[in-house]
Amino acid sequence: MKLASVILDIPTQALDAPYTYAVPEDGGEGDAPIEVGCAVLVPFGGRRAVGFVIELAQDDECDWLDGIDPAKLKGIVRAVSRPYFDEEGAACARWLSERYIAPLSSCVRLFTPPGGVPRMVRSREGRWRLEEPAVGEVDDRWVVPGPALAAFEPRGNAVKQASIAEALRAGELRVAELAAEFGAVSDAVRALERKGVVRVERRRRLRGVPGGGRGRFEGGGGFSPSPKPPLTAGQAAALAAIDAARERAAGEVVVVDGVTGSGKTEVYLQAIEGALSAGRTACVLVPEISLTPQTVGRFRGRFGDTVAVMHSRMSQGERFDQWDFIRSGQARVVVGARSALFTPLANVGLIVIDEEHEGSYKQDSAPRYHARDVAVWMARRAGAAVVLGSATPSIETLHACAKDAAWHRVELPERANGRPLPEVRVVDMAKEFSGGSRSMFSGALSRALAEELSAGRKAVLLLNQRGFAKFLLCRECGFVPECPSCSTSLTFHERGNLLVCHHCGHRVPAPPTCPECGSPYLKKFGAGTQRVEADLRVLLDAMPSVGPDVPIVRMDADTTSAKGAHQRLLETFAEADAAVLLGTQMIAKGLDFEDVTLVGVINADTMLKLPDYRAAERTFALVEQVAGRAGRAALPGRVLVQTYEAAAAPIRAAAAHDRALFLRDELPKRRLLGYPPYVRMANVLLWGTDEPAVRAAALELQRDLERAVRDFGGDGWSVLPAVPCALAKLRGTYRWHVVAKCPSDADLSRALLPLFRRRKPDKLVNVAVDVDPDDL
Ligand code: ADP
Ligand code: ZN
Ligand code: ZN
Repeated sequence: MKLASVILDIPTQALDAPYTYAVPEDGGEGDAPIEVGCAVLVPFGGRRAVGFVIELAQDDECDWLDGIDPAKLKGIVRAVSRPYFDEEGAACARWLSERYIAPLSSCVRLFTPPGGVPRMVRSREGRWRLEEPAVGEVDDRWVVPGPALAAFEPRGNAVKQASIAEALRAGELRVAELAAEFGAVSDAVRALERKGVVRVERRRRLRGVPGGGRGRFEGGGGFSPSPKPPLTAGQAAALAAIDAARERAAGEVVVVDGVTGSGKTEVYLQAIEGALSAGRTACVLVPEISLTPQTVGRFRGRFGDTVAVMHSRMSQGERFDQWDFIRSGQARVVVGARSALFTPLANVGLIVIDEEHEGSYKQDSAPRYHARDVAVWMARRAGAAVVLGSATPSIETLHACAKDAAWHRVELPERANGRPLPEVRVVDMAKEFSGGSRSMFSGALSRALAEELSAGRKAVLLLNQRGFAKFLLCRECGFVPECPSCSTSLTFHERGNLLVCHHCGHRVPAPPTCPECGSPYLKKFGAGTQRVEADLRVLLDAMPSVGPDVPIVRMDADTTSAKGAHQRLLETFAEADAAVLLGTQMIAKGLDFEDVTLVGVINADTMLKLPDYRAAERTFALVEQVAGRAGRAALPGRVLVQTYEAAAAPIRAAAAHDRALFLRDELPKRRLLGYPPYVRMANVLLWGTDEPAVRAAALELQRDLERAVRDFGGDGWSVLPAVPCALAKLRGTYRWHVVAKCPSDADLSRALLPLFRRRKPDKLVNVAVDVDPDDL
């Protein structure tokens, strides 16, 4: 008899294990075949539950039965979906679960379609029933020319039929389009259909795709082709390295280490072309924020409507359609955020990760995977190659290139158009301050703005917002308003005069006087983008050569929350003559405007003070990336970096475009303090509303970890004392953590897994493991 290993689709924090069911000979109650990757209905604890089949085997060949008598197994009721993933997907889910010490059900879930899967819901009367996902396929009705169209002569009074026939001569149309033009058309269309003048067909619609009405499945399109320039010598060498790695089919990694504007994207495009002509497909990951229509346009311009796109700003319906289009096998290239790795793209030959140093490639809920590590695992299994591109590769990636023969680094030290990298000047704000200036714009930055704007050119100003929110402080007693349920200071919002908690959303009106001592001297510290915009307006208006009509385009979380807002703001900036683009981190990535001649970083160092081992690396990368926005075309660019820590290595190094200088300062610190790339870490988080219970559980876990590490490890293994998190209280829950470290080549997950497999779920205390945490 045939057996199935089924993981139940029930959210849990514990490490869940699959159950074994018998596969009914006759397929059970339904008609759909029971295959690996299907959602199935199974009997579970006196009711029915939905699960996913992750393995199938005959009972005499089954290696996971563990002494269970197959005759006693319950049978699967029926399959309730087509397969969402294949054996390879199932293997990946298992690997993710073990590598990241995460519930298997959460890993399998990555592979299911956007919009959800069938699930069991309980009615008010307490009865369970199966509910289908709300999002699914939608069809359009199309009217297409029939055999009798050419010879069709409408009768004098059949005006609508005549109009429809006339419209159809130019090509097929959707019923909805005809109705928009001519009003109610169903009777006329039916009459024409009877005469063989037209046919009516149902076709899948692709929501959100330009020309998607015509349908991917009809080969429509209308994307403007992107020209293919001859490669520079550096680009050609990078391409050759990628092609060779792909042809060796051994899961090798090519790091394209290229300065901003060096033409990395062009290298990806031609490498993908190579993969496609070898009959393979390609998956391209891009940071969420750079997934703009321009980026997608470059890929569609080259590969037309074989490109599928996946990101979180699309609607569920749009994402479902793209997922289903990939499953149909018609998509050859997928461009998306990190989750695109898990779409059902068959026969992958190339996985590209652009801006690989970006923090958004790490998922911050279970499974806490890093897209780079998953890509490398997948490529090895599939005999594919991985391309990692960046002007500032992560320290881990540089380290792997030095240590691992399967990792190759190719450099593109020059811009594709031959322009030099911009001159970067560091402005010491401490000196400005002691010189009497209280403005957030230094004299040098003000003068540069006046020069560039009055000459009709553009400037980009970056406000580094990480660790830089605005809060209230009483200058008499030092009181800072804090959130009652999170241990953080509340952020001041100009609009509405509110204090807001950025973790839980708690909001209160800002008090006029200090709630502690009654003093009226409450000062606003820090500066949000709104405040900078207001001050900048005042500054520009006071410049006789600039004046009040120079637009300031502000780009931050507030102004970009609406769908398409990001795009509209960039267009406004692009179309203006002289203008300033003022924004947060989101402007540092991938913007390519020809006439930006000045880039200013208002506060380069605020991140450096954060208690995070990656703070220096992030600062270096941010300054280097944003500097790359200047002088991309014929006009030379200049960059002014304002900072209170002009002597800090990451700032000096970014200003000199000197990575070696940064690494010489940073690597010894990482080695001394025991941080990646010299060690691997697991951060175990514990949280709950009962503080003593969380504390006790953390201390117990520390002892368990010490034992596990002693049993497994040896030299270089350690467990740090359990302590409250830096953010010790969040949304009313108390948070502790314990960190385990091991040598960089040790199997950390394997050492810790048995401990977490044994652990029983605890009602009071939640536990989650973050393997290779991105910050600590
Ligand atoms: P990166 O991704 O490295 O920042 P891009 O691929 O965006 O760089 O290229 C920067 C600019 O140079 C783009 O406008 C691109 O069209 C152009 N470009 C790229 N490769 C070439 C080439 N070989 N010849 C001429 N222009 C190129
Ligand atoms: Zn006070
Ligand atoms: Zn809060």
